[in-house]
Amino acid sequence: MGYDSLPRLAHGREERSRKSENSWATSIYDYAESLPRMEILRLDSLHAALRETPLAEWAGRLPDTLPARWWSRPHGDRERWRALLASLPPPPAGEARLDADRVGVVGRAPLDAAMREELTRKLQGLHPWRKGPFELHGIHIDSEWRSDWKWRRLAPHIQPLHGRLVLDVGCGNGYHLWRMAGAGARHVIGIDPSELYLYQFAAIRHFIGAAPVHLLPLGIEDLPARLGGFDTVFSMGVLYHRRSPIDHLRQLAGLLRPGGELVLETLVVDGDETRVLVPEGRYARMRNVWFLPSCGLLERWCRRIGLRQPRVVDITATTCDEQRATAWMRFESLAQCLDPGDPERTVEGYPAPKRAILIARRR
Ligand code: SAH
Repeated sequence: MGYDSLPRLAHGREERSRKSENSWATSIYDYAESLPRMEILRLDSLHAALRETPLAEWAGRLPDTLPARWWSRPHGDRERWRALLASLPPPPAGEARLDADRVGVVGRAPLDAAMREELTRKLQGLHPWRKGPFELHGIHIDSEWRSDWKWRRLAPHIQPLHGRLVLDVGCGNGYHLWRMAGAGARHVIGIDPSELYLYQFAAIRHFIGAAPVHLLPLGIEDLPARLGGFDTVFSMGVLYHRRSPIDHLRQLAGLLRPGGELVLETLVVDGDETRVLVPEGRYARMRNVWFLPSCGLLERWCRRIGLRQPRVVDITATTCDEQRATAWMRFESLAQCLDPGDPERTVEGYPAPKRAILIARRR
């Protein structure tokens, strides 16, 4: 039966109460209550899909390891998001589009005005939509980021995804997961600890239907260090949020099978291979930015940890057309993070965001 089987639940509780003093008292309670709600993760279908792969054992353990980790820190909006998701109308008939810039579904018939209004309102309830775009039955979710532009930049350079097991670390709401499946991946797993994104993903999945795609609410630190089973691992927009970027690269390498491919996207600065920017405080208003290396240094970091042939294949300055506020992301965006008198600088006086894509292989 998988995650909701009673013997496992009882066992899990015992395990935890043995360890527990006071600190566990509340989490035991949350954990037990959360189990019937784990359906959103579809761990049983993940396990089934990975049965014949090097990831089978890990996938089989997830029902025991994931709930306590995730449900012990619920977001304050969790119940509202869950209620929204539960109230979505049954998906109208249509055809999934995973290989299009606007990921989603083209309906067989146009939605009537009332349905369109209801759907738009419910999807807007999952604001802010940072990654996209999506289009569901004519409703265009115009996200803050044109994530399709990043996809276009990297797609010509990577090993074809056809038939591969793929991991996307820090996948956000999963926009690129659908593109990876659309490119023929055998199975795609995204991990992201941010809870809202799981609900956005589930809302999109509700309309798209079956696809070999799963999103798990985990951080990279929750994965076994030497999982070693993915053919391709993506890490996009994550490295500069890590306090130890070289450790992040090592973790990514350990998740790949020998010969597997790493696709890394991150903020970089100009300069030779000795150059790195560690912002004094915020960078482009973000508090959690640590290391912005030059492209040469990024490649050197990869060589140092034993990755083969690391090479930067694209460098692109982020524009206010690629990242901007929209009706689906009404907070501040890039324009408010740049110096109004000099768009080459952030408001803090650092070089404006420039992003690189690097490809490397595990030995
Ligand atoms: N990969 C997407 C999203 C990048 S935003 C893209 O390129 O468009 C960075 C994401 O990293 C956020 O969604 C954030 O929740 C996630 N993240 C933060 N800490 C993480 C961690 N420890 N492990 C994995 N993902 C993390």
